[in-house]
Amino acid sequence: MSLLLRPLAEAGRHGREMVCADGYLHRVHPILAAYIVDFPEQCLVACNKESRCPWCLVQSNKCGDLEEWASRSMADTLKTLYRMRKNKRLRKFDTEGLCAVFDPFWKDLPFTDIFTCLTPDILHQLHKGIFHDHLVQWCTSIISEKEMDAHFQAMTQYPSLHQFKKGISSVSQWTGTEHKEMERVFVGLLAGAVDDRVLLVARSLLDFIYYAQLQRHTDITLAAMEESLKMFHHHKHVLVELGVRQDFNMPKIHSLQHYVTSIRALGSADGYNTEYPEQLHIDYAKDGYCMSNKRDYVEQMALWLQHQEAIHYKTVYLAWRRPRALTTLCCRRYVRPHLFYEHILALTLFKPVKAHYKVAKTPSRCQVSIASIESDYNALDFLPALERFLVSRLGRCWMIQPIGSDHFDVYNHLYIATGPSVISGHGRILQKIRASPQIAARGRKAETPARLDTVFMMDEEHPRTDCPIINCIYLLTPSIVLH
Ligand SMILES: [Zn+2]
Repeated sequence: MSLLLRPLAEAGRHGREMVCADGYLHRVHPILAAYIVDFPEQCLVACNKESRCPWCLVQSNKCGDLEEWASRSMADTLKTLYRMRKNKRLRKFDTEGLCAVFDPFWKDLPFTDIFTCLTPDILHQLHKGIFHDHLVQWCTSIISEKEMDAHFQAMTQYPSLHQFKKGISSVSQWTGTEHKEMERVFVGLLAGAVDDRVLLVARSLLDFIYYAQLQRHTDITLAAMEESLKMFHHHKHVLVELGVRQDFNMPKIHSLQHYVTSIRALGSADGYNTEYPEQLHIDYAKDGYCMSNKRDYVEQMALWLQHQEAIHYKTVYLAWRRPRALTTLCCRRYVRPHLFYEHILALTLFKPVKAHYKVAKTPSRCQVSIASIESDYNALDFLPALERFLVSRLGRCWMIQPIGSDHFDVYNHLYIATGPSVISGHGRILQKIRASPQIAARGRKAETPARLDTVFMMDEEHPRTDCPIINCIYLLTPSIVLH
């Protein structure tokens, strides 16, 4: 690390001329401000044992309490390490929980305090650590694994909520997405199954996890975050009473105390989430491995990555030379087929409709009669609704009957992209809306019940619509609408 960062130390001290985003040449002094790593590496960087906190001097038997401790100081730590190297025995070295890393890489970096550079880690500390390794295990040991599975299985089906049909005990590997899906329903699942105080513990920790993921913070959200942590510490003793835990002296529980300070210093924890760099495992490791013949794969993966990079550079160059040819020259993996489909749909309505929904490439059922649509989909007013829709969109009466056929292709699912979350500011989410009929039992396959989601629609263009509530959605092929 010292070798790697040597140019950074020199540039930080003396400055270096660089072309910035505004196109001008500036003299820049780059300094190390944030260091994103897992907890074991954080401890290694901070030269302390993994049972201790890399930010402050908390004793390992006091980690479970909500107390403030003095922050670690670079000058003090370097002095202690230097004296330890000379004397071999030093009491301060042990009380501060230091490790024998006598020549840390950060000692020569200018304007850097390594202990304030370490960032909170939402994926490993909160989703995998606090939620999965601690909270779920505590609650499972209270209500038993079987009961926990039963609660997950009994969850009501709802669009965009993940259904854990087999419970959670049989899953061997959890991803960040699954943790988030569990977090969405966890408090609801526990209601009535555990003591109210356990429910408060779960709610306060989940509140903290949700606040920590906000992309933007105010004093109010940070105060709410601190309040939820206080609530956890106020009620946590119920777990000791129930015999689930003997104490809470765990570095992950203690690390929650440093979130607010860190967010104030470095910005929202979402910006430092290790989930983003972990995503690169897919692009740089998993995809490369899949492309190899699985023998001597390292060399093949490196070559494949070089090819990908070359294609990318060539694509960027060609796009710069001929901007209009961009879409045809793009690498195949970047082309999204549904865009083409949405384009047709938009054309069909003779109006520049924004493409904020998705349907499958082919209909779920072809040439379904109106009688079937009315009976299978419980869509009794299908034709009048279709007429109203066409009139509202096209401004004149459209006759449905003369089309020559009273059969329609039907899609069972529609995906609507909602805008960024108002609360967290996270990107677009696809909401699945289902309109699938009942499928009778056949052979050994059990009957599949009908799934007809209720949709509340706010039509800003036509606020006086007669039917704000539609209990079944009608999805038509573009060709039919075109007629
Ligand atoms: Zn600490």
